[in-house]
Amino acid sequence: MNAAFDRKPNVLIVDDNHENLMALEASLRSENINILKATSGNEALAQLLENECAVTLLDVQMPDMDGFETASLIRQNRKTRNVPIIFVTAINKDEKYVRHGYGLGAVDYLFKPLDPGVVVAKVNAFLEIYRQRQELDMRASELENTNAALCRINSKLEVTLRELRVLNADLENFASIASHDLREPLRNVRSALQILQKKNEATLDAKSRELIRFAMDSTGRMNALICDLLEYARAGTKTFEMQSVDCGRVLDVALENLELAIQEADVQIGRSPLPVLPADPTQLLQLFQNLLSNAVKFRRDEGPAVRVRATDAGEDWVLAFQDNGIGIPDDARHRIFDLFQRLHAGTHIDGTGIGLAVCRRIVERHGGKIWVESKLGEGSTFFVSLPKRAA
Ligand code: ADP
Repeated sequence: MNAAFDRKPNVLIVDDNHENLMALEASLRSENINILKATSGNEALAQLLENECAVTLLDVQMPDMDGFETASLIRQNRKTRNVPIIFVTAINKDEKYVRHGYGLGAVDYLFKPLDPGVVVAKVNAFLEIYRQRQELDMRASELENTNAALCRINSKLEVTLRELRVLNADLENFASIASHDLREPLRNVRSALQILQKKNEATLDAKSRELIRFAMDSTGRMNALICDLLEYARAGTKTFEMQSVDCGRVLDVALENLELAIQEADVQIGRSPLPVLPADPTQLLQLFQNLLSNAVKFRRDEGPAVRVRATDAGEDWVLAFQDNGIGIPDDARHRIFDLFQRLHAGTHIDGTGIGLAVCRRIVERHGGKIWVESKLGEGSTFFVSLPKRAA
């Protein structure tokens, strides 16, 4: 609450007659208001210019400047023009006077002899209006502050967005540099190792062979990491080419590409009809391939099987990639979609921990969601919801 709101409201009473002034003050006296007094129109104006008042009770019959003249000057000054005025008059309730008062923008009229109950009730009504106006002013200034803060945040966001665009462009540049410049020396190291091994086949001892194999494996892993990081960068920066894509066809191609791994592991593939939906075909293939290759990779020995199906969920299609593999512990179900999260690092199963992060990027850029349900030792189902209409 601001200080102005905390202060007691001022009520100005104006009468050239001291006795009247005292009587008015006595009937209004309360600990909730400050009573200011003036005995002439000029004094009243000076008081109003100095103090903000909730209401003014203005005697009409005063010698130098009467109440109507005073009111007219009050209304002319920018600082005082909105102060509500209650004219107090001993003259009978002649229509002419009453209208004159309202013509000056007065808000009410009191007739002498004053009934203290009526005076208090009227002044209280104006005090209530004053309080409400103050509260409105306070809300308005709070709104203004909030608005200004929002504008500041907005312009900061715009700057961040511009910076992000630059960063994205940098990332895309990095992606192409990485693909050419990083993989090229890696290929050279690999060929050099192969030549070294071939040339010295007869003389190499077991330890040296082991070292060369270790170096070859490392270059292979580094190559896989670069490729996957490239995929990750592309999934975030590449412009999507949205078109109507037959998911059944995408599944055919993904299975063809993984044919060797599927045959080697003897994985049974089951499938239900899949929908046609708006997507970037290359990115959708990447998504299917990542999920299917994981389903094959993280299998159990007995009868590995993978099933792909789709369900109509109103505005979305939900695709499900179900396996009967090793499963995922509950506490890891969310983090496996982050970069470099590998639950089976250190086992014979290879990987980079990037595949599911790529999946999440692809799905989110399509306006969809990805999540997994799983039971350790029984299998996992990865769900992908994709909108039926392109965003
Ligand atoms: P990568 O497969 O290269 O290790 P991913 O990002 O594709 O990386 O997967 C992250 C981790 O999530 C994997 O290392 C694995 O521990 C777990 N995971 C992914 N898919 C499955 C699955 N179908 N069954 C069991 N675990 C899985």
